[in-house]
Amino acid sequence: MPTESKRDYYEVLSVERSANVDEIKKAYRQLARKWHPDVNQGDASAEEKFKEVAEAYEVLSDAQKRGAYDRFGHAASSGGGPGGGFGGFDGFGGGSGGGLDDILNVFFGGGGGGRRPGPQRGDDLRYDIEITLEEALKGSEKTITIPRTENCDICGGNGAAPGTKPDTCVQCGGVGTTRQVQQTILGTVQTSVTCPRCSGRGQVVKSPCGGCVGRGKVRKTRELKVPVPSGVDDGMQMPIRGEGEAGTLNGPPGDLYVFFSVKEHEHFERDGIDLYISQPLTFVQATLGDTISVTTLAGEVVTLNIPEGTQNGTRFKLRGHGMPNIRQRSQKGDLTVVIAVQVPTKLNEDQKKALRSFAELRGEVAGQTPDHHESGKGLWERIKHAVKGD
Ligand SMILES: [Zn+2]
Ligand SMILES: [Zn+2]
Repeated sequence: MPTESKRDYYEVLSVERSANVDEIKKAYRQLARKWHPDVNQGDASAEEKFKEVAEAYEVLSDAQKRGAYDRFGHAASSGGGPGGGFGGFDGFGGGSGGGLDDILNVFFGGGGGGRRPGPQRGDDLRYDIEITLEEALKGSEKTITIPRTENCDICGGNGAAPGTKPDTCVQCGGVGTTRQVQQTILGTVQTSVTCPRCSGRGQVVKSPCGGCVGRGKVRKTRELKVPVPSGVDDGMQMPIRGEGEAGTLNGPPGDLYVFFSVKEHEHFERDGIDLYISQPLTFVQATLGDTISVTTLAGEVVTLNIPEGTQNGTRFKLRGHGMPNIRQRSQKGDLTVVIAVQVPTKLNEDQKKALRSFAELRGEVAGQTPDHHESGKGLWERIKHAVKGD
């Protein structure tokens, strides 16, 4: 902090030590107009003078700070570090937490406690991907197209034309906020507002980059290859770090969140890592038993023995033919085959005759129904759990 060579605040404003508030205000207005950066573009010494005037006014226009300055002079602000310097005068009634130290930091852009406009992380983006159950099983890669903002290639994101640099904002000294100090009946109230000159960026671009018109960012449409992890389920989301919107002031980019939705399959039903399939059997196959082939979701052909007397709704589990566990690939779910016995329809006369003689051989009598015997028990339960099993 420049302390030793600092001019006396009264001298800066060219007012008497006994000057009243109106005189100080008037002097400040004249000088601020004279040295304002807008009327002295590119003049660094004018900028310094403007800061000096503003600082003097901040102190002399506030009765408490002026009183402290009258007693201790610039020595009071020589601390520099947090808690040092004018921080010691916070206790002088009404001063809010930051105190004079913070106000001075606004002008010097340094010292303790001052808040700078830090780099800001870019926003996150969302992209929805619809995949088939087969893709969820095997995993794959999808190419997606996303519109997003990226840092400008030409200026590297700072918005300044090649060969130039953004300047530190003179109004806020690069802090991005300015203080408003008001006298109220409760004492001095300070509020922090976004700097109107730099919109909080702390920097001002004098010669804007042609590629981004000084914004530092450009809108681009990007193609990205997105992995579809094996075992992914409907509704799952996957973050892809750093593929979101560009950050501000060299802040990191946001993330891209890919949301998966898995299309319904024509034959297979999924419940977590388990799969279910309904397997039709003829009445004769179910009755006499058979050896059939079942094609799994992966396309493997698995042999399944249907024992004699298999009831409708019976379930056969094919271990390890379900979906992989996305968190533990070695673990795989099962494929449950749910038997659906078909009652024959559109029988011709010979077939009907054969069935009647079959019934006769069984001793079946018209109008009499079978008992609720053991093998039929739990059928309703099985039907209820079938397909959407648990
Ligand atoms: Zn640019
Ligand atoms: Zn500013």
